[in-house]
Amino acid sequence: MADLIDIVTDRVEAERETLLARHRAAQARARPRPTAATPATACAGCGQPIPPARRQARPGSTRCAACQAAHEVRQARRHRTGV
Ligand SMILES: [Zn+2]
Repeated sequence: MADLIDIVTDRVEAERETLLARHRAAQARARPRPTAATPATACAGCGQPIPPARRQARPGSTRCAACQAAHEVRQARRHRTGV
């Protein structure tokens, strides 16, 4: 029975990630894209200001460090599971 619960939990999690990704992509499309002339100052993930030290250390960053880490975890999971 635990196997069935695990399968359902994985599917719910995958569906949630898919819906969140679609939502974030729609938000990103609606948001003006940063250019060299107008570098991103707001995080694409949470909308909070990207700290100047991060922008200086990682020019072109579109996410704060926490959102970038979460993004990389999701990418790794997606790559691993193919979802
Ligand atoms: Zn963020």
